[in-house]
Amino acid sequence: MRSIRREVSTILIICTMAGVILSAIFVNIAMKTTFDKYMIDIQKQRDIRIVSYFEEIYKRDKRWTQNSGSEMMHEAYMSDYCLTLLDGSKKVIWGMNPNDIKNSNHWIMKTENSGVYSSKTLPIKVNKRIVGYAVIGQYHAVILSEADINFKNSINQGIILSVFIAIVIVAILSLLVSKGVSFSIKKVSETSVQFSKGNYEFRSEVKSNIVEINDLIKSINMLGGTLKHQNLLRRRLVSDISHEIRTPLNVLQNNLEAMIDGVIPVTGERLNKLNEEVIRFGKLLNNLDLLKKFEAEQTSLNMDKLFLDDLVKIVCNEFNNIAKKRNIKIHLDVAKGDYSTLGDYNKLKQVFVNLLSNSVKFNKDKGDIWISLEENGDKVIFKIKDNGIGIKEEDVPYVFERLYRGDKSRHKALGNGIGLAIVKTILDLHSADINVESKEGYGSEFIVYFSKFKAGNS
Ligand code: ADP
Repeated sequence: MRSIRREVSTILIICTMAGVILSAIFVNIAMKTTFDKYMIDIQKQRDIRIVSYFEEIYKRDKRWTQNSGSEMMHEAYMSDYCLTLLDGSKKVIWGMNPNDIKNSNHWIMKTENSGVYSSKTLPIKVNKRIVGYAVIGQYHAVILSEADINFKNSINQGIILSVFIAIVIVAILSLLVSKGVSFSIKKVSETSVQFSKGNYEFRSEVKSNIVEINDLIKSINMLGGTLKHQNLLRRRLVSDISHEIRTPLNVLQNNLEAMIDGVIPVTGERLNKLNEEVIRFGKLLNNLDLLKKFEAEQTSLNMDKLFLDDLVKIVCNEFNNIAKKRNIKIHLDVAKGDYSTLGDYNKLKQVFVNLLSNSVKFNKDKGDIWISLEENGDKVIFKIKDNGIGIKEEDVPYVFERLYRGDKSRHKALGNGIGLAIVKTILDLHSADINVESKEGYGSEFIVYFSKFKAGNS
């Protein structure tokens, strides 16, 4: 396995090497083409110069002789081309032997069609009349001098050197860049290792200017928070369950032992008390079962059109007696409107029951509960507000967690900490949102946003 740093720098170096080498090849091809074109142009100018030289000689002498322009032979020999002078009827006046220049070392020749002798016949015109021909032959399409070749070579060397320098620079840069990228990923991976060891306090402090890595750092830190919180909940759950189980068991054990030993008499009242403990014990197990059922998402929904105002009124009626016992007033405020939604009647009833039961349970005697339904665009908003004990600020984000119970309620009121978790699960299944606002000592407000029933969405 390779490290991310090595992987990133290898990719960078390979890509840059490919890029630099390819551009070097293209530059070389472009340079060669331009250079050869330039040399061919020079050759053309040479041919024009030779022809006009012969034209001048003919104008001067009015005829061709063995010596006409023969001094050109020396230049031709030195420049590795073969020159032949023909008269108007293409009879040779003088000419060079191509073999003389074949192996000459005066000029170094390099061409694509190297070694194949080719010649061109150019007419010599005086007063628009052809008076002779100059035959220029050479073994190569382009003749390069040593200086030309040196020039070409030094450019090629320059290209090779720049390729080398570019690769060295890129190698150094890629090591630095890959360090930057790998550093933050390494830190994130270190954080996850810490999490796997159970150290949920650990956080990645690194910052990256790569969006995805930054997101990764943020999410891993958030994950740490969640894991820490889940761990806390798990511990709380274990201690809660053991506490809930131990208390009734102790009561049962002590009382039964005392009864067996004859220390206390077996009376109907005592047996009833013991039975209450057994019921409490059973309730806890039932709640855990219920939670398990919801968590496993075994809940199949029975979706149908229902009217939230009707449902809310029914639940309020059911709670009237319980509330009255503690002099708690339920104020129901439902203006006329369309409160239809698509939902599972029993599950949504459970939502209202749980919310209302909490408002009663965590209220003070002679307290108030305000319940309202209102329309807002395509939403139906349900609000339930009480002036009870409220929720501690630090507990508010966790009230929808499984088995979460505020410290106060834990001691004062009987609860199991799954009511709101169930509410949240049911509302999630209905794509409804729930929010809570609460102030310790003043009361709480739960707000639920349902989508209105639309024909065709059943
Ligand atoms: P339970 O009521 O069985 O404890 P819930 O899941 O219904 O479990 O509620 C979780 C916790 O949220 C409660 O223990 C309590 O601390 C807090 N809570 C819920 N509703 C209210 C409310 N209306 N007023 C004050 N605290 C509340």
